[in-house]
Amino acid sequence: MKKIALLGSTGSIGTSTLDVVRRNPRQLQVVAMACGRNVERVLEQIREHRPSLVSVTAEGDAVRLREALGAEAPEILWGREGSVRVATHPEAQTVVSAIVGAAGLEPTYAAIQAKKDIALANKETMVVAGEFMNAAARQRGVKIFPVDSEHSAIFQCLNGEDPKRIRRLILTASGGPFLNKPKEEFAGITVEQALKHPNWSMGAKITIDSATLMNKGLELIEARWLFDVAPEALAVCVHPQSIIHSMVEFQDSSVMAQLGLPDMRVPIAYALSYPDRLPNDLPSLDLTQLAGLTFFQPDEGKFPCLKLAKQAMAEGGTMPAVLNAANEVAVQQFLDRKISFLQIPRVVEETLQGHARVTPKSLEEIVAIDQWARQRASELAAA
Ligand code: NDP
Repeated sequence: MKKIALLGSTGSIGTSTLDVVRRNPRQLQVVAMACGRNVERVLEQIREHRPSLVSVTAEGDAVRLREALGAEAPEILWGREGSVRVATHPEAQTVVSAIVGAAGLEPTYAAIQAKKDIALANKETMVVAGEFMNAAARQRGVKIFPVDSEHSAIFQCLNGEDPKRIRRLILTASGGPFLNKPKEEFAGITVEQALKHPNWSMGAKITIDSATLMNKGLELIEARWLFDVAPEALAVCVHPQSIIHSMVEFQDSSVMAQLGLPDMRVPIAYALSYPDRLPNDLPSLDLTQLAGLTFFQPDEGKFPCLKLAKQAMAEGGTMPAVLNAANEVAVQQFLDRKISFLQIPRVVEETLQGHARVTPKSLEEIVAIDQWARQRASELAAA
């Protein structure tokens, strides 16, 4: 029985994780969970999964939960400290890191420090502080298992392989809802249109990131650190059907790919059961039923966020943290209907332009730069 602490239980990855747990009650148990403001959903989750520790964002919500649960209430905490307590729960062996955004950094880092293995969905953590996360994980003997479907695919393709023999990691991208929309029409893109992803049902932030292709840029940076490869060894290939989840090209020119129907429960389960595989009753992939698999180069003129992310990755240092923070602000402003879709890359680019790259010496330094970038991006978005 593997005991799990789940960060971001009420989100898309969080609820999929709980479904994996529900289907595998003899293998998996959730002992602690943290979420934000969705009190109704976490209430149901507590009643079903009976964790011994829960954390929410606001103190008032913690009080409401305690009242609603009465004598059956577990220990209920709140705020950043609460998330850190969940991430370091003494019984948890693995922490599923699925809070959205850089808010996931502190609890994920705390989990590594507490020697918990990590099932990592929260890519922003790796984008902002990949080098620090890796160093801490190495020092503590902690394993980081990817949840992102692309990284899970690469992880599976690398099984038993010598990482020195990697020539390229090729991340596939669905292309998002605007793949075939002419650039001239981008100015009129609404929040509703951007939230309609063709293949995946996900949280709002990552869905917008998929529409701008920033998600693929963040994934490149995540892959750079997860698999310890140079930026030049990373490539993106648009594959609208999302059947090939990613590929590895080796030095002998062999290419390995991992395929499957798009369902996040598969990579989540693999991250929790590795090196084993948990059986499930999901539909089988029948390649004969598919109209075809297509592949092409991403259009960075149409989707400048991908280019910005590649540049930030190549420059390194604090640039990816600035990129991420500015993007989080810009996406939220778009979701709040304060800026247009086209302004997202502009805010990110101008925030990056206002920052002189440094090599961060501590996590605190990165957090300070993240704060600066948020402030700057908010000003640019309001201008
Ligand atoms: P959602 O928006 O659906 O869920 C986010 C979760 O984080 C919710 O549980 C939310 O709580 C919680 N949360 C937000 N802020 C805080 C905070 N400050 N403290 C504690 N909890 C907080 O996002 P997704 O599940 O889609 O994505 C989560 C992460 O996984 C992201 O980093 C994303 O990039 C990554 N990912 C997601 C994939 C997907 O298919 N969805 C695929 C691959 C990666 P509440 O709702 O209660 O406010």
